Amino acid sequence: MSPSAKHAPSARDAAIEVSFEFFPPKSEAMEKTLWRSIERLAPVAPSFVSVTYGAGGSTRERTHNTVARILRETELKPAAHLTCVAASRAEVDAVIQDYWDIGVRHIVALRGDPVDGLGAAYKPHPEGYVNAAGLVSGIRAIGDFDISVAAYPERHPESADWGVELDNLKRKVDAGASRAITQFFFDNDLFERFLERVRAAGITIPIVPGITPIHNFTQVASFSKKCGTSIPAKLAENFQGLDDDEETRKLVAAAVAAEQVMDLVGRGISDFHFYTMNKADLVFAICHLLGLRPRNGEQRAA
Ligand code: FAD
Repeated sequence: MSPSAKHAPSARDAAIEVSFEFFPPKSEAMEKTLWRSIERLAPVAPSFVSVTYGAGGSTRERTHNTVARILRETELKPAAHLTCVAASRAEVDAVIQDYWDIGVRHIVALRGDPVDGLGAAYKPHPEGYVNAAGLVSGIRAIGDFDISVAAYPERHPESADWGVELDNLKRKVDAGASRAITQFFFDNDLFERFLERVRAAGITIPIVPGITPIHNFTQVASFSKKCGTSIPAKLAENFQGLDDDEETRKLVAAAVAAEQVMDLVGRGISDFHFYTMNKADLVFAICHLLGLRPRNGEQRAA
């Protein structure tokens, strides 16, 4: 990445790749919303779509069912998130084996958050994988999966310093991770600094920025605080006074996310992972600005 490229966005010329993250639905109504979003976003031809795994391992079945349905009913490539939380190695291995057997070839391997919530000490299951690096090794031993892992442009809250953070990412890469997807962030300078640190540490896998369009600023700000993502003052200002004005909030959110993504394109970034929150509209608009156009007939859901 060349800092001199900073002010030369060229989205339509760059080979932009996008991927989308969804969460497994809890109810029939949520299922319908999810599938409407998948159908809207599928023609943009993402390189993959991922499905999250609930905190504490709470969505094992629902994640599996959603991934299996994507595989069955669309031409999209699903990636199943999997964590080490509250399960023995044997149980986790059985899930991995099952994914392999039904044809899933991409897993997003995560440790997961402490069962008692963010901020509490993480206690591995006595017979479980201790961390994401261990899980990556376990997945590799079962099948030749594409494995994504998490990375943190502002450090994971449990990493005491950058040495610990980068050593951990390196362990995940050495175990077999092929790509890292980042925690969401809003300050592109911090991401660029992170990328420099990662490359200086000899880590060469793609680091894909995780982008979160802001549907609800209050919620995003509160979650950011817990996971250590900083909120630039300008971002807070942009959403000030809009709590009861959904229509304007949406327009502002689209503008904010587009500005962030186009700035990253200007810095030489061409891969983006979008946290969709199962909503298609903002993400579809941003993809349009990135020059991505629906490829009807090529990549259709259902
Ligand atoms: P790890 O890489 O194992 O690291 C966790 C912490 O432990 C780090 O601070 C690391 O430095 C430290 N550490 C690990 N091993 C060692 C060691 N040997 N020595 C010293 N320190 C060590 N959570 C979910 O529950 N479900 C999801 O679907 C989900 N999807 C996510 C997707 C993305 C892209 C991201 C960024 C996060 C996601 N998360 C998800 C959240 C994630 O589970 C938490 O951030 C969790 O706290 C850490 O997971 P990890 O895989 O980064 O853990």
